[in-house]
Amino acid sequence: MGIRVGVIRGNGIGPEITQATLRVLEATDIEFEWVPVAIGDEGVEQYGHPLPQESVKLLKELKLAIKAPLLVDKFKGRLYCEHEDGSVGVYPSLNNAIRRELGLYVCPRPIRGFKGISGAYEDLDVHIMREITEDVYSGIEHMVGDCAAECIKLTTRKAALRVAEYSFDYARKNGRKKVTCVHKANAVSMADGLFLACFREVAARNPDIPSDDFMVDATAYYLAKCPEKFDVIVASNQYGDILSDLAAGLVGSLGLAPGANVGENGEIVVEASHGAAPDIAGREIANPIALILSGALLLRHIGRCDQAIRVERAVAEVLNERLSLTPDLGGTGTTMGVAEEIVGRM
Ligand code: ATP
Ligand code: MG
Repeated sequence: MGIRVGVIRGNGIGPEITQATLRVLEATDIEFEWVPVAIGDEGVEQYGHPLPQESVKLLKELKLAIKAPLLVDKFKGRLYCEHEDGSVGVYPSLNNAIRRELGLYVCPRPIRGFKGISGAYEDLDVHIMREITEDVYSGIEHMVGDCAAECIKLTTRKAALRVAEYSFDYARKNGRKKVTCVHKANAVSMADGLFLACFREVAARNPDIPSDDFMVDATAYYLAKCPEKFDVIVASNQYGDILSDLAAGLVGSLGLAPGANVGENGEIVVEASHGAAPDIAGREIANPIALILSGALLLRHIGRCDQAIRVERAVAEVLNERLSLTPDLGGTGTTMGVAEEIVGRM
């Protein structure tokens, strides 16, 4: 029996890039058993809820999953999840609900430039650790009359310490040289001030790894101007969200930026940084590389770095030689065409 991995096929380009990713992972020497998990439209069809507790339970059991993008607009607003013990979770979106129902707390996004593709950013190599449980995406907001709205930026010691600890561990395990905390503590003195103070506390316990901190605006500037300033970045939810899209843009496409959602008990749900791209769905032109590289992150997580490196090298070769690239990278290739080229190189 193979390694059981949950598969959330998603919406928009989701099913297309999922098929391409499974094809590449099947070309490794690892035997997988793909377990479909009903979330989103499939959850509604099978269980009457976009995030059925049956699916949450299955994912907790499997601990490993590949998630294609889910259409954000379709499942936003208040999402209620009723638990077996009678408690209720209330979330601002389906993506947020999946992360929080599963206890996933950090989203590592390693973004790298590619030869032949990324121009001035070929050597960019920045790993962004995005906190994903709180900040302004906690869904704590309300209208004040008709003409004003207030949104709470939540920061807790628990979450800030946890993501900082993960970042230093990540740096050590992956041979990275430095960890940088991104914040705006001069303007948001309490919430970001606490995030930074927790970071410094953890940095003091990890003196073997150099650390520093930057304001988020300066970070955006330096990422564009001299990205070699950065190695591992740890950021709160919103800053991490924005900076990872910026870094993806610098290296050439959202279709090149992988990511994962990691929990405290070894859970990992890998997913591309991009969304469901409904504008190009169903046309076989979506770039599957971000999800394929996310698949490589899953391989690393299960201790198969050898196979992860095989996939990553094949991707780099295909990009460098510009073999059947998809239109976002200036080619005329198809989603499965890219996957086949990668498999050919493996
Ligand atoms: P979300 O809110 O879910 O993050 P979004 O509004 O940020 O979604 P995306 O779905 O990420 O939007 O798409 C942004 C743009 O990038 C769209 O024009 C889309 O076509 C393009 N895009 C995203 N992913 C890919 C991909 N894998 N291949 C090609 N183009 C993509
Ligand atoms: Mg987006």
